[in-house]
Amino acid sequence: MNTVTYTVCPGDTPRRIARLFGVSYPSLVAVNPQWEEDPALIDGEIVYVPMPMPRLYVVRQGDTWESIAAQTGCGLEQLWELNSHVYKGYLTTGQWLELPSAHSSRIVASEAEYGPQELSQDLARLSVRYPFLKVETIGQSVLGKPLLTLQIGEGPFRWHFNGACHANEWITSLLLMRFAEDYARAYRNRSLIGGKDAAKLFGKITLYIAPMLNPDGVELVLEGLKPAHPLFKELLLWNRGSTRFGSWKANTRGVDLNDQFPAHWEDERDRRQINGPAPRDYGGPAPLSEPEARSLVDWTERKDFHAVLAMHTQGEEIYWNYRDNEPPEAAVWAGRLANASGYRAVRLTGSDAGYKDWFIQRFKRPGFTVEAGWGHNPLPLEGFASIYDGVVKLFAEALDLSE
Ligand SMILES: [Zn+2]
Repeated sequence: MNTVTYTVCPGDTPRRIARLFGVSYPSLVAVNPQWEEDPALIDGEIVYVPMPMPRLYVVRQGDTWESIAAQTGCGLEQLWELNSHVYKGYLTTGQWLELPSAHSSRIVASEAEYGPQELSQDLARLSVRYPFLKVETIGQSVLGKPLLTLQIGEGPFRWHFNGACHANEWITSLLLMRFAEDYARAYRNRSLIGGKDAAKLFGKITLYIAPMLNPDGVELVLEGLKPAHPLFKELLLWNRGSTRFGSWKANTRGVDLNDQFPAHWEDERDRRQINGPAPRDYGGPAPLSEPEARSLVDWTERKDFHAVLAMHTQGEEIYWNYRDNEPPEAAVWAGRLANASGYRAVRLTGSDAGYKDWFIQRFKRPGFTVEAGWGHNPLPLEGFASIYDGVVKLFAEALDLSE
């Protein structure tokens, strides 16, 4: 196999390098057999990358240009352009078509770890490809990373979805970003998203997505603790001496952002009995002490959302109530979300200070926490497609709930 060389940069992982070159992860491992022993990368190390092959598609009986575009995730015009030698009036079974490289067809790639860098690049590229998307920064993390949001649709009902409040649940950022891209494409192509007419949803809903509420924490989980980190000594202590952060849920000050909201915050603190920075469950010195939680609350007040949905992992459950503050439609909506996704709607007690708890108590409107997927956090990327399959239907159903 022909290869090129690549010099490892800070933050690189094997999967991120595969994504950068648009090659598959197994094909990258095949030319770097040393990773089978130890996949850790060293900055400045030289690795090999296979030359990407053109992607081809064999036309099957019954295929149309439109169905091939939909199946492969290409734009119809891009597909015509690459195959300008093929007569558009008909396709022959068994004929080869060229597809855009994995690189160019889809912006949000689920083959690699998804951190703050990937998020900001993807948002920039999405807003170029789909100019009707609006990207806005609603605040900054403790370490000064932008808290990025995305707006799609122009309807009167204001829905809000968010993700990666818990650092090691970063796969929720990818679920939300994949949905944003698929929804934008479906709207432009006048097609379906999660079985629903995208243009109809677009006309009745304005959706505000905050894909990554805790970018500092996500970076720690994905890349581990580096000596150059401004809180290196503290984080090492709070993480019991380990530089690996796979179990870390908190922000970079060891505060669990989903225990930060002013909804019986003291009850949650007394229940948890965690009195200082920790990988999880420490609610901070006071409600909204952390800029990530404060920014989300301020933005929620400004936008006056009609309903919110907070994405977490894992358990395939939907929580929809809070201390009898939820409106009557909440249970019905939860049932419909459960039907659409195959998840269970669960009535929860004995939990406070979460974002959806605060939202329900503050506005008396529907608020949900969805625990996506099944397994041990962080959920592995290998399961992404099957998790997304349920979640895309849940998201589309949510957007279709309000009349
Ligand atoms: Zn969580």
